[in-house]
Amino acid sequence: MSKRKSASGPVVGRPEILLDRPELADIWAETDAQFPIRVTRSWWQRINHADVTDPLLIQALPQPAELLADPDDREDPVGDAACSPLPWVVHKYPSRVLLLLTKRCHLYCRYCFRRNHRPSEREDPTPGEWAAALDYALGSGAEEVILSGGDPLAVRDQTLFDAIDTLRDTIPVIRIHTRAPITKPARVTNALVAGLASRRPVWVVVHCNHPKELSPDVDQALARLIDAGLPVLNQSVLLRGVNDNVPALAELSRQLVRRGVFPYYLHHTDHAGGNAHFRVGVQEGLALWHGLQKCVSGGALPRYVIDPPQGSGKVDVASWVSSPT
Ligand code: SF4
Repeated sequence: MSKRKSASGPVVGRPEILLDRPELADIWAETDAQFPIRVTRSWWQRINHADVTDPLLIQALPQPAELLADPDDREDPVGDAACSPLPWVVHKYPSRVLLLLTKRCHLYCRYCFRRNHRPSEREDPTPGEWAAALDYALGSGAEEVILSGGDPLAVRDQTLFDAIDTLRDTIPVIRIHTRAPITKPARVTNALVAGLASRRPVWVVVHCNHPKELSPDVDQALARLIDAGLPVLNQSVLLRGVNDNVPALAELSRQLVRRGVFPYYLHHTDHAGGNAHFRVGVQEGLALWHGLQKCVSGGALPRYVIDPPQGSGKVDVASWVSSPT
């Protein structure tokens, strides 16, 4: 089997994918140059390759529509640049600071709001940049630091532990935003979980969009985190062709709750260049959320939020639509 190696481990490589899906050959190089194509072996095995509408396939493999510009594309879809006092730092809310440990991910979701990061850009902070980012967070007066990326579990355990240990001096709560337990569940090793558990309070926010993502190896990864006493929440993104229907959203919420994972956010799709084909309109999204509300209990209902390009931070869609400012 042909595969390429990366810092985050083996991935299903181009030759194998193209054997299965020769129609991708024409767009592969161009889409890969805009935003790398990377799929984990676990994810690849969960795809129904006989179905071109498979929700996992759509999230991971490029489509010709990625190459089309849309008038609503935004270079900085959630306004991070205006809220970035230093490289690798985003500070939108007084009580919390977001640090980007890396730009690398185990799987590159084709709808990603950070897909504007160019492959030619540096993927990790220099030691000096990272020290400055930690210093900023320590002096910010924030209650909480969110370690994000990219995927913060795309860095080595010790790098992650060192960051938490440094921050712990003044930051009471650390939150890790990672898709690794869903895309590369083998990354959730006993050593990683033990290291995080010994540094509690650490909250883990995973990213799962469709119930088909919850395979047995994902279940094991989630259980390992929960059994170690780490609170696990989920954020999902509303995506055309993936979860833009009430049954899929309701089943996702139910399955997460059964596993002890709290459905935290349903994100409106941010308008990054190349993801227009994934976008669902606000009114349609709100109707779906109201439909979901009728199907699941309050504890299984995520907040439907939008992150405006002005960088003002998340807004609850229901209240935003009823009283737009
Ligand atoms: S894991 Fe998150 S940051 Fe990485 S490509 Fe997917 S959505 Fe983007």
